[in-house]
Amino acid sequence: MYAEAQASTSVDAPLTRDIPVPSRSLRLGLGVDDRIDSNVRTTEIPVADDDELPVTQSALVASRTETTSTGRHRLRPPSSALKARTALVAIAAGAGAVAIVGSGVDQGAPAATTPDPVEASPVLASSNADDLGPGVTDSESTTDLSTFADQLVQGSKLAAAKDAADAAARRPTVVSPVSLGVYKLTSAYAPRWGTFHGGLDFAAPLGTPIHAATDGVVLKSGPASGFGNWIQVKAADGTITVYGHMAASGLKVKVGDHVTAGDVIALVGSEGFSTGPHLHFEVWIPKGGSYVKIDPAPWLAKRGVILSALVG
Ligand SMILES: [Zn+2]
Repeated sequence: MYAEAQASTSVDAPLTRDIPVPSRSLRLGLGVDDRIDSNVRTTEIPVADDDELPVTQSALVASRTETTSTGRHRLRPPSSALKARTALVAIAAGAGAVAIVGSGVDQGAPAATTPDPVEASPVLASSNADDLGPGVTDSESTTDLSTFADQLVQGSKLAAAKDAADAAARRPTVVSPVSLGVYKLTSAYAPRWGTFHGGLDFAAPLGTPIHAATDGVVLKSGPASGFGNWIQVKAADGTITVYGHMAASGLKVKVGDHVTAGDVIALVGSEGFSTGPHLHFEVWIPKGGSYVKIDPAPWLAKRGVILSALVG
């Protein structure tokens, strides 16, 4: 469906090819941010992988611990397993208290009363203090239980923090902008039609979710010549990922938003110089005080995202 003819064979536009690089004058004419655009070369200069800025683990961790503007919090509530452990300990504590009470009141059947799991808690010991039988003091057991409860709370906090850290460590730092199996890669980062195609084309049905490839801040979300609409996301290490051809209604983030890799930031469209629904995806890296476009495929591969084969 999206089979591509090679550039040299025909002047007919293949279904999903686009014209990805708007002229400088067009872009400046639209009042697009000078700081970024004036620094981006309109003729692509491939940059060797060795020239890429290293993505340091500390930078990734730092960006990952930021609180997002949408109120997303990184600390997860204690796991259900943890809650279960907490409940079990509480039941055990309650059972102990009941056993003590029972031994004072009825020597013959200390275990006859099974504690209700809901009511069994350290509080039970002190609330029944007046009913304690001979030889049983309430103060000591209350102190022991409260200390135990304090330790439990401490342990819970530590476990929750560890859970959150483990989850962050497991989460991928870079994801494919369109899910594997949903797209067809129809254009590579390569010369095309006498110019240079500075990104990858992910052909996919209209409305297909587009994911943020990295954590970052939204620099652009709006019209751009040639792109219809585009989104730029700037990662903590300075890398900018660019997403194009969405309809205005397909923009799901606004400038200044913090996004996490994998967040749905837009929907596939076919606006601008596009001949079929697809995402045009670019990667820009800072270099020598400006930005250069690089081939997104090896950049993604180096970060664990292997794209499907080019079609056509
Ligand atoms: Zn493209």
